[in-house]
Amino acid sequence: MSEAASAPVSATGLASEIRRRRTFAIISHPDAGKTTLTERILRAGGAIQLAGNVRAKGERRRTKSDWMGIERDRGISVVTSVMTFEYGGCVFNLLDTPGHEDFSEDTYRTLTAVDCAVMVIDAAKGIEDRTRKLFEICRLRDIPIVTFINKMDREAQDCFGLLDEIASTLALDTSPATWPIGRAGHFAGTYDMRTREIRGEAVDLPQSDARMVALSEELELAEAALPLFDRESFDAGHLTPVFFGSAMKEIGVTDLLDALVAYGPEPRAQPSETREVKADEEQVTALIFKIQANMDPNHRDRMAFARICSGKLTRGMRLKHVRTGKQFALHTPQFFFARDRQLAEEAFAGDVVGLPNHGTLRIGDTLSESEELRFTGVPHFAPEILRRVRLDDAMKAKKLRQALVELAEEGVVQLFRPQDGLPPIVGVVGTLQLDVLQSRLQGEYGVAIGFESTPYTIARWVTGERAKIEAFSMVNRSAMADDLDGDPVFLASSNFMMRRTVEMNADLGFHDIKQIG
Ligand code: GDP
Repeated sequence: MSEAASAPVSATGLASEIRRRRTFAIISHPDAGKTTLTERILRAGGAIQLAGNVRAKGERRRTKSDWMGIERDRGISVVTSVMTFEYGGCVFNLLDTPGHEDFSEDTYRTLTAVDCAVMVIDAAKGIEDRTRKLFEICRLRDIPIVTFINKMDREAQDCFGLLDEIASTLALDTSPATWPIGRAGHFAGTYDMRTREIRGEAVDLPQSDARMVALSEELELAEAALPLFDRESFDAGHLTPVFFGSAMKEIGVTDLLDALVAYGPEPRAQPSETREVKADEEQVTALIFKIQANMDPNHRDRMAFARICSGKLTRGMRLKHVRTGKQFALHTPQFFFARDRQLAEEAFAGDVVGLPNHGTLRIGDTLSESEELRFTGVPHFAPEILRRVRLDDAMKAKKLRQALVELAEEGVVQLFRPQDGLPPIVGVVGTLQLDVLQSRLQGEYGVAIGFESTPYTIARWVTGERAKIEAFSMVNRSAMADDLDGDPVFLASSNFMMRRTVEMNADLGFHDIKQIG
């Protein structure tokens, strides 16, 4: 149904294009080295010629008051949402997972659009909170994880200890893919456990060098004690190959990229309500996993980020927007590079393209050539911050209600209407989302709001028999709310309270994740 006069790709051509896609994200705790590693990766892929950070320091460490200014200059943050480059014959799509102050639900949602995650761990700190949390999101879909233990050029924890920690805290088998040669100031390269190759400066070290002596002792232990890489367990998300390196010193970065080329993973099949959609199916399907709005009130355009789930997309095509049944014309699909974007004439399953639109596309929407298909990939995640919205001008109550619904539909925040009739509560996972909500309400709807704290810190979707939920809601009226779809949510003020509620209501389910759709 393509309007574009593009040459049809043969089935084998399609399959081989798709097989060379690598779509991944980097997950880490702030300061573990994600930005540095991203920059080194892009440089290895030829995407950046100049040294320097992908994002300027100032932007990354931005403060609340900078937000509007940055947003006006939308270019930067949109461009860094996904970065496409070629390396080793593969097309890589690196999806940015906002961290630091811009940590948000988008961070989680992005992980539903990747085939693999690179988990960066600070060698001195081990597994940290945010890493664990992001890992859990990956585990929901059994996304294969590649581990990069960074900052080996500094004082680090013992390697065996780090591998143990990953295995025990994440319940994930670890298989060292490389082993570090030398430590801290004497870190000189890596040893490839499979090919037995030495990389980096260490190539020139004599066998008598203390680092080489230590290496052979450690290898003996490592080979005896740790499992070998197993592709099947990796694909299933049960085993992680581990790389040691220093993003800053550029040690181990190509080890990592070469492994992604060699092991994949390739674009995975995506679950839909009716069936699993394989990447190499001929018909194009795509899933919207992120929306970025233009903050300029005069330009209400939105950039929807679509993961192509199957087939080949060609510019000019019309796809069915399954939620509305309407046609959506792909006039200007876009690819993103480190500092640039380009019209995408064609894109394949695994690729991520930006689709400019005026608000038609929402998170979780499916586009398909003809099939009535709905992907189930983008869930709602329980917010970690809950605030009550305070309206300064009571005359604008109706407008606020409508605006909150629209912005919640777009995925800016989650909206909860308390069953006791008090003003709405919004939920987010990162505080910057609150600033975005506030400035967009003001800028696009002319509604000034403030936030008030709530006693709640935890929100859980409640499932079970209707009568039981109603009985529970009656008793807990002041802690109950309805989400955007009218589904009941229980709000708790502490972990203790949450645990007690779960214990006392064994016939109900309390969930921190809800599928969209
Ligand atoms: P992010 O918050 O995860 O994006 O981390 P950054 O890439 O901004 O790194 C945080 C800090 O650690 C910066 O000061 C980096 O220069 C430093 N850093 C990153 N990688 C390395 C590394 O391999 N070795 C050392 N010594 N420092 C590093």
